[in-house]
Amino acid sequence: MTTLKHFIAGEPDITGESFSDVYDPTTGRVIGRVPMAGRDTVERAISSAAAALSNWSNQTPLRRARVMFRFRDLLERHADELAALITKEHGKVLSDARGEVTRGIEVVEFACGIPHLQKGEFSEQVGNGIDSYSMRQPLGVCVGITPFNFPTMVPMWMFPIAIACGNTFVLKPSERDPSASLLMAELLHEAGLPAGVFNVVQGDKEAVDILISDPRVEAISFVGSTPIAEYIYSTGAAHGMRVQALGGAKNHSIVMPDADLDLAVNNVVGAAYGSAGERCMAISVAVAVGDIGDALTKKLAERTRLLKVGPGTAPDIEMGPLVTRQHYERVSNYVSIGVSEGAELVVDGRDCHIEGHEKGFFLGGCLFDNVKPSMRIYKEEIFGPVLAIVRVPDMESAIQLINENEFANGTTIFTRNGNAAREFVRRIQVGMVGVNVPVPVPMAFHSFGGWKRSLFGDHGVHGMEGVRFYTRQKTVTARWPNDIPEANAFMMPTN
Ligand code: NAD
Repeated sequence: MTTLKHFIAGEPDITGESFSDVYDPTTGRVIGRVPMAGRDTVERAISSAAAALSNWSNQTPLRRARVMFRFRDLLERHADELAALITKEHGKVLSDARGEVTRGIEVVEFACGIPHLQKGEFSEQVGNGIDSYSMRQPLGVCVGITPFNFPTMVPMWMFPIAIACGNTFVLKPSERDPSASLLMAELLHEAGLPAGVFNVVQGDKEAVDILISDPRVEAISFVGSTPIAEYIYSTGAAHGMRVQALGGAKNHSIVMPDADLDLAVNNVVGAAYGSAGERCMAISVAVAVGDIGDALTKKLAERTRLLKVGPGTAPDIEMGPLVTRQHYERVSNYVSIGVSEGAELVVDGRDCHIEGHEKGFFLGGCLFDNVKPSMRIYKEEIFGPVLAIVRVPDMESAIQLINENEFANGTTIFTRNGNAAREFVRRIQVGMVGVNVPVPVPMAFHSFGGWKRSLFGDHGVHGMEGVRFYTRQKTVTARWPNDIPEANAFMMPTN
């Protein structure tokens, strides 16, 4: 049984707190306890970040980048350890956890380029003897509040760029899989990051509510479910903070009648059931266009029945357990709701027994056909291994279906017709779009973010959107007068 800690002012920290249980989702057993920060701890973390700000923001960009280079190297060396921690508390298979760490490292690699990324613009002689230039300055103390499903990658969407830009940071990770955040904090410390620049407070709503209302906090990055994203956005904004709040999703994959069916099925199965569907970019709706419906359902059902479910550390396993018993029950309940709503349950994963792991939170892949847009299993985010097939007559109806959905994180199309794909890309009202790929997650040097109720705020994460979010622009107009006669200063200057 591990007792987890906070990380404040360069040190592990634990002081007079209540605790919450951390589970091994493959056995259902409690394997750790995580402290829940109250006001004192949260305020200490903010004070630590505030105290470190002046020194850190005055470091040269090259020095800040060099910390990121060393951090990147340490992450590579500890990648297996990080992946093992993720699998232990989250349940996803080890190779997937390792992939998550790599996607996080890629953001650190992007942040290593901060001396170039943070450069401003310069215009010479915008007036007589006058030059104009812009610079991007750090904001101050930034906060990250992150979900359970990517305990390393999602925090690394945020803090490497925030810190490289010269900000200091307080991370509040998910209380369900908190260990990886502490290892990342230790590695940053080992990389030479000064104490207080990066802090971790463990906790739940109580800690979050203090973070999003403290006047010393300048900006909040949030990733989690839509109702909480909306709450964080409105509360943070009401306190004058800059907020990016990424929410939930319902991602559709259109399969056109001319698609390579095997390619589409392979991709959709991986995108729907990978990480037990606990991905904000998981495909949860397959849209069968025209007469492809029967063949698509048949092939998807065959693959879904063959999914290898088991502990994420065992070889060849494709899908691990859900994160907690409560989440398992919530997802299973959605399957019952789908049946009572009249959708056709083609594959039922609820009867999933893994020998030796009878108390684990395992749910097999579930597949519904003939799902209607009015059903709850279509409208609501389930966040589990449940794929819904909706049949539509043509591409026009598929586009309309997606554009009428309240979520707009990611979507994909499978087709051999370049013109249809182009039309889809142009007209679809979704933030991240894929053509013949399983999951259209942008690389670190592009930006990640949905539209509509999948993102509250103006900036996506990482790439240049990340740099813009964590800096504010200042534009300078400067003259060094020598013998220039002063003109009438009451007049609007014109050229
Ligand atoms: P969640 O919203 O329950 O929790 C996210 C964070 O908010 C956690 O740190 C949690 O402690 C905190 N929190 C929870 N309830 C709160 C409350 N009432 N007030 C203040 N803070 C609160 O999300 P989760 O279950 O951890 O993660 C799954 C969700 O995250 C899914 O909806 C998924 O789509 C979403 N997600 C979105 C993206 C994206 O990029 N859009 C990425 C990953 C996950």
